[in-house]
Amino acid sequence: MIVVIDGPAGSGKSSTAKAVAAKLQIQFLDSGALYRVATLVYLNCQKDYQKFFEQLEESEISFHFKKKKFHAFLDGRDVSDEIRSMEISENVSEVASNSDVRAFVNQLMREVVKQNVYIADGRDLGTAVFPDADLKFFMVADLETRAKRRFEEVKSSGKNVTLEEVKQNIAARDEKDSNRSSDPLKKADDAILIDTSEMTFEEQVAFISTEIKE
Ligand code: C5P
Repeated sequence: MIVVIDGPAGSGKSSTAKAVAAKLQIQFLDSGALYRVATLVYLNCQKDYQKFFEQLEESEISFHFKKKKFHAFLDGRDVSDEIRSMEISENVSEVASNSDVRAFVNQLMREVVKQNVYIADGRDLGTAVFPDADLKFFMVADLETRAKRRFEEVKSSGKNVTLEEVKQNIAARDEKDSNRSSDPLKKADDAILIDTSEMTFEEQVAFISTEIKE
């Protein structure tokens, strides 16, 4: 079984999916984290696309969900915190717009999902990666709310950024993610739309958990 939640940056997808996964004891897959790991490889290659593709093929990318945290590993090293930096956030949408990178990440995801029950979050999971998902959600919220949420997350992880920087970054990513030619951010026709602007976190978790149980 696979449940997917798509939506723009900061709409509450990851935190809600994590809480639902912990509550229902299922696996959680953060597809954005995989694009972030690919971006780390890209930056490690000094943005040289040819080197990057060679390196990506040779890299071992793995992940697991433990104690309510999604851990991503690059060649055995836990890079979960490193991939949340502003430098990664500023480059990830460019890397994710490349169709070869998307094919690479999609392959990784489809392999693991065969083996377990998952709730996954992303941008194109309901439309392109898992069009036959058992249940699909599309989460939205206004830009101000999303920027504040992301700002609190980034700040609590000890990083030094302003609300304005976070707001500009998510607006720029939304723009790129919605307008790229390969698998843009888009609501699947059969996805349930959830506007979280006026919802508490507990309400979001309860809503999705109830839909899954039904
Ligand atoms: O979810 P998160 O904000 O960490 O995602 C980082 C970036 O990864 C997005 O802005 C987008 O460019 C890319 N992404 C994507 N498709 C997905 C998930 C994430 O293109 N399914």
